[in-house]
Amino acid sequence: GLQPGALEVSVRQGLPHAAEWAGLRNREKPSSFLGTKWKDTAEIVIIGGGCIGVSLAYHLAKAGMKDVILLEKSELTAGSTWHAAGLTTYFHPGINLKKIHYYSIKLYEKLEEETGQAVGFHQPGSIRIASTPTRVDEFKYQMTRAGWHPAEQYLIGPERIQELFPILNMEKVLAGLYNPGDGHIDPYSLTMALAAGARKYGALLNYPVQVTNLSPRSDGTWEVETPHGIIRTNRIVNTAGFWAREIGTMIGLHHPLIPVHHQYVVTSTIPEVKALKTELPVLRDLEGSYYLRQERDGLLFGPYESQEKMKLQESWVTNGVPPGFGKELFESDLDRIMDHIEAAMAMVPVLKQADIINTVAGPITYSPDILPMVGPHQGVRNYWVAIGFGYGIIHAGGVGKYLSDWILGGEPPFDLIELDPNRYGKWSTTQYTATKARESYGFNNIVGYPKEERFAGRPTERVSGLYKVLKSKCSMGFHAGWEQPHWFYKSGDEIGYKPSFRRTNWFEPVGREYKQVMEKVGVIDLTPFGKFIVKGNDSVKLLDHLFANVIPKVGATNISHMLTPRGQVYAELTVSHLSPGEFLLVTGSGSELHDLRWIEEEALKGGYNVEIKNITDEMGVLGIAGPFARKVLQKLTIEDLSDSAFKFLQSRYIKLSDIAATAIRISYSGELGWELYHRKEDSAALYNVIMEAGQEEGIDDFGTYALNALRLEKAFRAWGAEMNCDTNPLEAGLDYFIKLNKPADFIGKQALKQIKEKGLKRRLVYLTLETANIDPEGNESVWHNGRVVGNTTSGNYSYSTQQSLAFAYVPTELSKVGQKLEVELLGQNYSATIVEEPLVLTEQTRTRLQKKGGKKGPKSA
Ligand SMILES: Cc1cc2nc3c(=O)[nH]c(=O)nc-3n(C[C@H](O)[C@H](O)[C@H](O)COP(=O)(O)OP(=O)(O)OC[C@H]3O[C@@H](n4cnc5c(N)ncnc54)[C@H](O)[C@@H]3O)c2cc1C
Repeated sequence: GLQPGALEVSVRQGLPHAAEWAGLRNREKPSSFLGTKWKDTAEIVIIGGGCIGVSLAYHLAKAGMKDVILLEKSELTAGSTWHAAGLTTYFHPGINLKKIHYYSIKLYEKLEEETGQAVGFHQPGSIRIASTPTRVDEFKYQMTRAGWHPAEQYLIGPERIQELFPILNMEKVLAGLYNPGDGHIDPYSLTMALAAGARKYGALLNYPVQVTNLSPRSDGTWEVETPHGIIRTNRIVNTAGFWAREIGTMIGLHHPLIPVHHQYVVTSTIPEVKALKTELPVLRDLEGSYYLRQERDGLLFGPYESQEKMKLQESWVTNGVPPGFGKELFESDLDRIMDHIEAAMAMVPVLKQADIINTVAGPITYSPDILPMVGPHQGVRNYWVAIGFGYGIIHAGGVGKYLSDWILGGEPPFDLIELDPNRYGKWSTTQYTATKARESYGFNNIVGYPKEERFAGRPTERVSGLYKVLKSKCSMGFHAGWEQPHWFYKSGDEIGYKPSFRRTNWFEPVGREYKQVMEKVGVIDLTPFGKFIVKGNDSVKLLDHLFANVIPKVGATNISHMLTPRGQVYAELTVSHLSPGEFLLVTGSGSELHDLRWIEEEALKGGYNVEIKNITDEMGVLGIAGPFARKVLQKLTIEDLSDSAFKFLQSRYIKLSDIAATAIRISYSGELGWELYHRKEDSAALYNVIMEAGQEEGIDDFGTYALNALRLEKAFRAWGAEMNCDTNPLEAGLDYFIKLNKPADFIGKQALKQIKEKGLKRRLVYLTLETANIDPEGNESVWHNGRVVGNTTSGNYSYSTQQSLAFAYVPTELSKVGQKLEVELLGQNYSATIVEEPLVLTEQTRTRLQKKGGKKGPKSA
């Protein structure tokens, strides 16, 4: 049986793809790649011939790009690819990656026909097993997030599971998440088929050719050094798998990647498996944390060990990958996975009688959050990456297509912000990467809650000046390396992070903070914002080209959007014109380097004479908001803060009790407020004087959860939710900020004009819904007449009107106020109504109406 004694097996034998590869290994290697063409100029050089690089070459060549060159230092697939288990699934807990999976599977289904190469694709379906009630909730949560995607996915009961997987012990099984089109593919053959396709469309795949150095040229092009000579190219893409870090080092980048050990075992023939008429679906026992699939007449089993037990290959990060590795595997270590083997034997009892005939232990490259890094890299021109793939086999097809569309079209074809390589920065150190990779590997199968927080590696060295002051007083959230308060504790609260699919311990406290800001005054740490200074002779011209809004006058601020050439929303920033030609640009914490890259690239491309400086780490930001905000701040400054002297959307340099700050009268809460930009080392002092000054007014802290509740009631859109690369600003209802009539031909203007002419197919609507103990959070299915017609983008509880509310995209014909719809939450459809925006008027609107003698009070909407 599957006992340690039976585990003395030879590592490199057995699997058909492994055997095929072994054949390649033993063949004498050509000293040069005579037989293929050598060219010393290329449109693009792809470094690394694993499934990812080859898929990119295939897609670019197929789309018509000329001079695509892929360089591989040994043989195609000779990194992580050749020995992968090859699992393919439609499922992804995220939203955007489902599209990548979908595309990959559809491509793999027709690849053999297209290229003439068999790929060994099996699609017996897959079942994820729930054996706890929380897991059943998770599946329901996942169902509503999948309902508006094309892939089939079903929540099934024990009977159906037993029918599909007759050799399962049903004792603990409560439910299953079933994806009928799932299965597995032979990664070696898949890559070879993509390579055949790439060659057919004209790409050069040159191997063995090792890239030994990279030199940027002043015009933004590159010189790629190899033992065979230099190749000049317009663009390089790093697809070097577990060597990707070494390629980065050649140009001074430290990609946060680390190889982890992953093992799977294969059994000999099992009579009960052999007797089956159809192939077993792939099984994922989430509590046992392993996958299990049929391999011929036996089973293949792969576990994810806990973070304590899993193994990192740290020496490769410190010393580099040993030369020659890639043709090797790691020593297998079955003791490490014994708990999982036992769990599997309990779930699939026939395993007890099986012998292990093969084990495979190989390196998988992990990024801290186990999502790959895909796209152009900030700080280095024309350097792209597609690295850090934990699941490269299922991602290869979709990522190749996505990147190729982006490279050829000049913008991401759809929103995939979670893969942006620029989500990391200097704060993602080697130590951080190792700690996080450990956690990510160990958490492969944990329950994925809404608003999930993970705590390994925190805090990073990037903390706000208030971190020490606030850390014990609140539940912190992690944003691009920063810690930011989510909500604050008071005596009697159940403190800490208590995730749930329903309302949980922060629900009441957030209501308290909400009330604090609506009725008194609150202070919030906004330091994690990305902040840039843009100045120089051409700054106005550059910003006019980048932004769809007009350029604010000196001393003024506005909200401006950067659009893509197709007219989609790339970013949203707050732009303040500090002094003639000098601007402060502020963006969300998650989009700092994402936005900076775009701005820098446009500035370079257009030859603008500007200086762009990232001051994110030097500046602290405090927000103060609520009816008494003015009264409190006025105590600290001689500057006149009255409504007529310091108007909404004005910015000014002021001193608050001797601390210098750029004050902007703006608040995402929609209440009277200022954002105070100051030197980070002054944050604690500034916070203290404000708190002191506000004693009488009952000043208190608030966090980002309350801020979100406040902005939703004001119907303020959020970047990344209501607007992103999948939406244009008109359907998002951002018309007010888009100046199609301004003289400058800003990026996206022409496309947007056409979109406007054609008319909108869908619109963002504002919904209220009656629920019990649960609120929408975004990405849920919206139903009408028994069909899914759209999706929510964000949601929350409205503390003032005491009901749930959400933003959602629905077809234009269903977008009128009063329209009845349904929103699916945890397996139940709740009736929803489109209402007029906003639920609560902003402070300026209230003040304006009051002055006119009109309606009064916050609830007058
Ligand atoms: C045991 C195991 C099981 C797995 N199971 C699955 C699974 O079931 N499903 C799934 O989706 N994923 C699975 N994976 C993960 C998957 O194998 C990887 O994510 C994927 O293969 C990564 O592909 P890649 O193209 O990024 O990298 P690689 O395959 O590592 O390719 C990188 C290539 O770059 C080349 N290279 C490096 N440096 C240079 C240089 N300087 N010059 C030229 N060339 C260079 C290398 O030789 C190599 O061929 C598994 C991995 C392991 C180890």
